[in-house]
Amino acid sequence: MSSKEINTNYQRVKNNLPDDVQLVAVSKTHPAEKIMEVYSLGQRIFGENKVQELREKQPLLPKDIQWHLIGHLQTNKVKYIADFIDTIQSVDSAKLLEEIDRQAAKHNRKIKILLQVKIAEEESKFGLEIHEAKELFTDWLNGNYPNIQIQGLMGMATFTENKDQVMKEFTFLKQIFDKMCLQKPLKILSMGMSDDYPLAITCGANSVRIGSAIFGQRQYDL
Ligand SMILES: *Cc1c(COP(=O)(O)O)cnc(C)c1O
Repeated sequence: MSSKEINTNYQRVKNNLPDDVQLVAVSKTHPAEKIMEVYSLGQRIFGENKVQELREKQPLLPKDIQWHLIGHLQTNKVKYIADFIDTIQSVDSAKLLEEIDRQAAKHNRKIKILLQVKIAEEESKFGLEIHEAKELFTDWLNGNYPNIQIQGLMGMATFTENKDQVMKEFTFLKQIFDKMCLQKPLKILSMGMSDDYPLAITCGANSVRIGSAIFGQRQYDL
């Protein structure tokens, strides 16, 4: 992708987003120079899915970038990002939540997280079952994990052409989100990627994670 193409892509995506929808520019597999191009267009929130890749890029880039981790996170790797990560979107176990809390305390900061809920049919997708997400949320409301700020929920729909199914899954997560908000208002409902973000927004997403629609196709994947 040339700078010009990235610029065009970025403006197109921005124009498609209502003002109150947060954009996480997913920069995985793309080098720091490309990230810098999108940064120079005003973008400040970037998402990566691998700890090692994030650790390599973070020192090369401006300190006011808010990094979001969006991929599965192993408990033993939390320590490598705990001092700078803005939001961990992919929290999928109590064990992980505990470790993030511990590391946040160690660095004397609060770490924002989203609970990743499994809404897709595929077996392969990570995420909490609904009841687990509710339990963790209640535990947190009761004072557990004091160094964590639960910001909301994240979900990935099934990878399918079937828009009805995707819509069903997004709508389902929005309903869970609304119910949780009755206990305590949450800020972020993260759903939607390059192929399905307009639909996700229709279904109530207020944060989207967009990679290829900005940076172009990835050279390699996951
Ligand atoms: C890669 C990735 C995205 C972005 O995917 P695109 O289709 O390139 O927009 C969003 N969310 C997660 C969790 C990802 O791993």
